[in-house]
Amino acid sequence: MTAVLTADRTATAPIARVSGCELQVPLVAGGTCRYANFDYAASAPALELVTQRVTELLPTYASVHRGAGFASRVSTDAYEGARATVARFVNAADDQVVVFTRNTTDSLNLLAGCVPGDTVVLDVEHHANLLPWKKNGRRVVEAADTIEETVRRLIAELCTKPAALVAITGASNVTGEVLPIERIATIAHRCGARILVDGAQLLPHRRIDLIACGVDYLAFSGHKLYAPFGAGVLVGRRDWLDAAEPYLAGGGAVQEVTLTETRWAPAPQRHEAGSPNVLGVAAIAAACEALCDIGSAATTKHERALADRLRGGLDAIDGVHQLRLWADCDESVGIVTFTVDGFQPGQVAAYLSAEHGIGVRDGRFCAHPVLARLGLPGAVRASLGLGSCADDVDRLMSAVSTLVEQGP
Ligand code: PLP
Repeated sequence: MTAVLTADRTATAPIARVSGCELQVPLVAGGTCRYANFDYAASAPALELVTQRVTELLPTYASVHRGAGFASRVSTDAYEGARATVARFVNAADDQVVVFTRNTTDSLNLLAGCVPGDTVVLDVEHHANLLPWKKNGRRVVEAADTIEETVRRLIAELCTKPAALVAITGASNVTGEVLPIERIATIAHRCGARILVDGAQLLPHRRIDLIACGVDYLAFSGHKLYAPFGAGVLVGRRDWLDAAEPYLAGGGAVQEVTLTETRWAPAPQRHEAGSPNVLGVAAIAAACEALCDIGSAATTKHERALADRLRGGLDAIDGVHQLRLWADCDESVGIVTFTVDGFQPGQVAAYLSAEHGIGVRDGRFCAHPVLARLGLPGAVRASLGLGSCADDVDRLMSAVSTLVEQGP
């Protein structure tokens, strides 16, 4: 512990300015301190370019695809421009379309209505990538203690009985461990299945190239990608999306309507009925641009340095245990989840907030089967992002250390 705390506290400064970075929060002992946000995995604060783009668009914010006036044309351009930006950001193939949704959960539920056959999932998924697949045949594969064995089990499942889709997370929202997407995509395709990646936790930390990785469908949320709430993305191959019933029935999703017949539009409009969230979508596009400017290598380097510092520091505190799913997983995003002997996760989180102005998440992280598998009633999750810094990491380690010294 001491060794970590005496290391250079300014070694890793934030690499981007995010909203709320100067926020002062009250402490139970009186006074205030700067908020240390360790809850990026739940929702990431807005990047400066995102705030700027939304502010610029607010005065001309009008109906998309539905008006001839200047403001409508500006909004329509922003909306369709965002679609093109997102497609470039993930390097979508020509036959892949970008559908705007409300969030990852919405994207996955939409896709679940389009899959023409069984879907295979692992038991380590967030509920959003577990529950929607019940709509068609859902087959759950129990993950093993290693990635290697888990992949073998997936192969065995797909060989035993064909499936239409393998739906898998890019990074675990519980442990931050990253799955070998490219490899799983190759296996899925070899077995005649397509692959969906739940990118909610991966995309804020790593770029994904759909063509290079062979990924057929990708879902993610704006609010985890440094944009505000309310808009999300499903990118994917057009044929299933065009053949399926529209996700929502209503205006904008149709080509022609009579009182007896409806001719639905192809995707993406087919699944985007109702007035769209142009501000949310423009915010996602701005976030994609900002992340490209910062660069994936710089993001990874920053987060890896901070996560290593945090993991090393917590490792040195007696009675603190970090969660892992796979013994052979050597890649993870900036998520560090742990328990503290003698304390309920909620007690740890409340203490960190009230006494130290540190925001973490506690509980089961919408992944009940994962926590059950780890034999835990809950845990504490500290997640990092572009606005995180070494000083905050040290504050967190020091606070946990003090809690342990004080005892339950
Ligand atoms: N998938 C993963 C891996 C997540 O971590 C989350 C949210 O925490 C979701 C899906 C659901 O995201 P949203 O609540 O934005 O729909």
